[in-house]
Amino acid sequence: MLAYIGIGSNLGDALENCRRAIQDIVSDGRNHLLKCSPFYRTEPVGKKDQAWFINGVIAVETSLGLREFLDFLLNIERKMGRERGERWGPRVIDLDILFFGDQVLNEDGLQVPHPRLHERRFVLVPLKEIAPQLEHPLLAKTVSKIISELPEGEKVIPVPATEQGPCTV
Ligand code: ADP
Ligand code: MG
Repeated sequence: MLAYIGIGSNLGDALENCRRAIQDIVSDGRNHLLKCSPFYRTEPVGKKDQAWFINGVIAVETSLGLREFLDFLLNIERKMGRERGERWGPRVIDLDILFFGDQVLNEDGLQVPHPRLHERRFVLVPLKEIAPQLEHPLLAKTVSKIISELPEGEKVIPVPATEQGPCTV
């Protein structure tokens, strides 16, 4: 299945944390990395008194099912020392399933597509770089279209080219 994953960090070396998480995801033989967005520095949404985030999005082909894939990502979060504090507070790593093919699931603990992706510039801006024409299965709009209709919001600024690093496929 083709899955899009949103990656974020704002604790410690945030860029390095994002890179490590990608490495952990794709070093598992059941996942294959297809695309990486650039990384962005993004202004916190909701809770303002915390460090800016690094955010990016990757596309992977996975042989895992949706539930297994979530458990796999939550395991990486745990392994990297994520502590669940307050909602939207600082985190060493956040891994969100944005899309899983065009599957739609709305259960406790797992909603796909991610229920807030369409209002988050820090997800949509990197996503647009790798999948502008991807269609949201519930909104029936492409990523480009969704972003074009979004009001100005928190800042999303590309990390300098010299710090981007390769997409290790
Ligand atoms: P957020 O990413 O919205 O800031 P958290 O990362 O703190 O919130 O929430 C994690 C919980 O969200 C996980 O325990 C997981 O069960 C649930 N969840 C629901 N849908 C998804 C999804 N599409 N991707 C990742 N986690 C999800
Ligand atoms: Mg999350």
